[in-house]
Amino acid sequence: MEMIYDLIILGAGPAGLAAGLYGGRYRLNTLLIERGQDGGQIAITSEIENYPGQMVDQEESGATLTARMTRQAEKFGVHRAGATIARAELSGPVKRLTDTRGNVYEGKTVILATGAHPRPIGCKNEREFLGKGISFCATCDANFYEGMEVFVVGGGDSAVEEAMYLTKFARKVTVIHRRDQLRAAVSIQEKAFRNEKLHFMWDSVVDEVSGDGILDRMVVRNVKTGELTEVLADPEDGMFGLFGFIGYLPNTELFADAGLEMENGYIRTDEDMQTNLPGVYAAGDLRVKSLRQVVTAAADGAIAASRAERYVSELE
Ligand code: NAP
Repeated sequence: MEMIYDLIILGAGPAGLAAGLYGGRYRLNTLLIERGQDGGQIAITSEIENYPGQMVDQEESGATLTARMTRQAEKFGVHRAGATIARAELSGPVKRLTDTRGNVYEGKTVILATGAHPRPIGCKNEREFLGKGISFCATCDANFYEGMEVFVVGGGDSAVEEAMYLTKFARKVTVIHRRDQLRAAVSIQEKAFRNEKLHFMWDSVVDEVSGDGILDRMVVRNVKTGELTEVLADPEDGMFGLFGFIGYLPNTELFADAGLEMENGYIRTDEDMQTNLPGVYAAGDLRVKSLRQVVTAAADGAIAASRAERYVSELE
């Protein structure tokens, strides 16, 4: 007979890794499934200044924090599977996850911790230029644009902070924002307006990008006047960078037909991370919540695992 785990955790970002640590410590027979690298969004974040105990000035990064979280979860006996889940059956007493190779994983409880991904810019030809001028990660790609021109779409904290970070590399950074006023915190705005390398295109959206295999042209539309502006790469650079920071979308498509209550694609839970399905919990950025940060994801994971432990012990 196939093994039925006490707990299956889907996703090894901070929420999933914290759930793994707690699941292991509760002596639950726990399986942690991840399709890519551990860490989720923090795996590609260089500076995390607001996770308690994480000190940027001691050369710590999202990657080193992730590595420690992974080691800690594994130390407490969590089993690992590298797999992409294609089907999730969550409503029965045994939760069943099937991967793209047809392997089936069964658990008495499941914690969904698949996180979120950057919202696409939404312009024509966007997919064609991913990694060829378009990026969603300044820390990953900023050094590629050393001395070049870069554009940033968005007006929130992320867009403005990442734009300022990009000015350390690019010769000029222009923020393209769909309104005439930033959403970012006033303290962040003040810093941004003092930065001489930072420029703004207000009331504007990117309609279209193009180029011969690499991004060297885009069309920006003024949403108030309808005026179209063609932006061309400096011939000496041959290209420019376009970074999108316009929020995130939850990675919950897999659960669309699983019977979970959702709100705009985010999973609804109570304060114990319990979804509307018994034995099914959600932790981290994929659930309806007010603050999506590493510290709140880790806390969600811990709470979800503690409730899973209670649920399993009541089954016995
Ligand atoms: P956000 O605050 O939701 O801002 C998203 C920005 O993208 C907004 O300016 C929005 O424009 C714009 N936008 C949304 N959809 C768009 C579209 N389809 N086309 C063009 N523009 C679009 O997202 P975020 O900046 O990623 O921040 C997420 C959360 O993390 C926030 O709570 C933020 O405070 C927090 N955060 C905090 C820090 C920090 O404390 N240092 C750093 C980063 C993030 P509108 O303004 O017109 O809606």
